[in-house]
Amino acid sequence: MSLTEIDLHKELKKYFGFSQFKGLQEDVIASIVNRNDTFVIMPTGGGKSLCYQLPALIEEGTAIVVSPLIALMKNQVDAIRGISSEYGVAHVLNSSLNKTEVKQVKEDIVNGVTKLLYVAPESLTKEDYVDFLKQQKISFLAIDEAHCISEWGHDFRPEYRNLKSIIQRIGDNIPIIALTATATPKVQEDILKNLGVQKAKTFKASFNRPNLYYEVRPKTKNVDADIIRFVKQNNGKSGIIYCLSRKKVEELAQTLQVNGINAIPYHAGLDAKTRSKHQDMFLMEDVDVVVATIAFGMGIDKPDVRFVIHHDIPKSIESYYQETGRAGRDGGEGHCLAFYAYKDIEKLEKFMSGKPVAEQEVGHALLQEVVAYAETSISRRKFILHYFGEEFSLETGDGASMDDNVRNPKKQHEAKEELEL
Ligand code: ADP
Ligand code: MG
Repeated sequence: MSLTEIDLHKELKKYFGFSQFKGLQEDVIASIVNRNDTFVIMPTGGGKSLCYQLPALIEEGTAIVVSPLIALMKNQVDAIRGISSEYGVAHVLNSSLNKTEVKQVKEDIVNGVTKLLYVAPESLTKEDYVDFLKQQKISFLAIDEAHCISEWGHDFRPEYRNLKSIIQRIGDNIPIIALTATATPKVQEDILKNLGVQKAKTFKASFNRPNLYYEVRPKTKNVDADIIRFVKQNNGKSGIIYCLSRKKVEELAQTLQVNGINAIPYHAGLDAKTRSKHQDMFLMEDVDVVVATIAFGMGIDKPDVRFVIHHDIPKSIESYYQETGRAGRDGGEGHCLAFYAYKDIEKLEKFMSGKPVAEQEVGHALLQEVVAYAETSISRRKFILHYFGEEFSLETGDGASMDDNVRNPKKQHEAKEELEL
């Protein structure tokens, strides 16, 4: 089907009930429908899923969607089934299925019912699946969270590395759509090179979050008291506090509780039931504050998180951007406060010391950027956006005044020196 025959707005309304595309969605979808290799870089919450879901629903055949997490796939499949009456329209193919279920999935694909097939990269490597998919009509292949391909991303997964050769075995003329919220120039280059789609049409949205206020404070031994004060000043608002270790999560959650703050802990050491209970309590606003490790957040879509505090500095600017990005999704206020002590950087360096040398080098380079961010006296927004390869103008950019350095500038000459990013 060619674009001229399709009214994308009508299809959007029909399948999703939305009357407007968000940001670059329409252009991206047009590119996919025209069978281009397509590269989409949009911040979290930008609406990347719809970019491949809508064309998949419109086009003939099955779109294969590679996604790193089973939980994420399940959410997406449920959401798609919510908008379509047909059961087989979206399926997950992974190791959790039994033989009968696999057979059903395959039948739905053969019969042309399945429009979206979510797979984990490791399932895609299975001979049996490759042989099967090779014989099917595949509309395109979407690779979600494509930064997992790059060791310069914040979530490198070696299984993502072999995708290109598998795709070629399934068919050598299948358009490839890569999507990510990770935009550092290095990661972008890695993605395109690894997938062999250097000529892909690229769509990049701005990463600026004008409503987020960025602040860094020195971390002293009174950091817990500082946090308590901050939370009390923001009484009743939703917030996330990130800590590096499970132990610290438990301790801090308790300290907050003792101080009359409605807080709960969240980390991967809690059993699944407790984790999901605590997550729901936060979403339903039975508690104000979640104290968490980075295990908390993927796929969390609470629009009115008003602050994200980092008790410990994260291991990359990328992670910091992702984690703070959970604040102010609704466009309202979002205060991003990081506590920083160089000692913590040394601690993170030490954690890495057991890892392979190449990994340590990457880790070290990423950490140096974090140090530069924490210690800079220029606009933090400008710093973050520069990291993502984006120019930001302090004169005309949105949210230019929304950080501590801009509101309370340090001495001119210091600032000037540090401008050389
Ligand atoms: P991303 O993968 O980029 O982080 P998602 O695909 O999860 O973002 O979408 C984020 C939210 O935006 C979802 O709740 C989705 O329903 C919503 N959304 C996507 N496209 C539109 C649109 N055109 N109009 C309104 N809401 C949209
Ligand atoms: Mg997504």
